[in-house]
Amino acid sequence: MMGLTDIKHRIARAEAEAGRAPGSVTLIAVSKVQPLARVEAVLRDGHRCFGENRVQEAQGKWPAFRETYDDIDLHLIGPLQSNKARAAFELFQSIHTLDRPKLAKSFARFAQEMGQCPDVFIQVNTGEEDQKAGVSPAEADGFVADCRALDLPVAGLMCIPPVNEEPSLHFALLAKIAARNGLSGLSMGMSGDFERAIALGATHVRVGSAIFGERVPEAT
Ligand SMILES: *Cc1c(COP(=O)(O)O)cnc(C)c1O
Repeated sequence: MMGLTDIKHRIARAEAEAGRAPGSVTLIAVSKVQPLARVEAVLRDGHRCFGENRVQEAQGKWPAFRETYDDIDLHLIGPLQSNKARAAFELFQSIHTLDRPKLAKSFARFAQEMGQCPDVFIQVNTGEEDQKAGVSPAEADGFVADCRALDLPVAGLMCIPPVNEEPSLHFALLAKIAARNGLSGLSMGMSGDFERAIALGATHVRVGSAIFGERVPEAT
């Protein structure tokens, strides 16, 4: 699939330009609201790492693909309601949107019950936007410590920069917060800015439309 090949080349080039090891950046192909045929084309091309932003939509799509394709690695990248947390635990290998103490406590309880836990990324609202999820930069260190005290496997931090600001400022801020907390994972960068994110240390880029084509507008 053309989009996938092109994005993989651009990631490899951005890794090289940043002096980073080849393969150090994980490509999460964001398949939300894409036609199933497009998603399956990317699976057939051998890609196995995907991102979804809604639990219910993912539940309707991925169990069937998992019957045909092995080793699918699913990342939840959208806001998680408490009443969907258990379902998210069962479906996803990574959750990028841990953003509040109540959810952290639920995760700790499920982890104990199930004997396993997805990797978690803590979402930081780097732009301090009212409408956006995530802990504020000032709360981040404390929340990381709280999650660790609950024995959650904190893999790193995630951000979605404000639409009208230079994303690099937000990527740099996220990298700084991660570094001072000893966290190596950085989930940042989308179709329009993933190369800038890689230059600033992204370990996971979330790329949708540049791989699959434009999405039909979402209904929220
Ligand atoms: C939809 C989405 C993406 C992918 O966006 P594109 O611009 O299509 O690459 C990345 N991250 C999050 C959190 C998203 O919701």
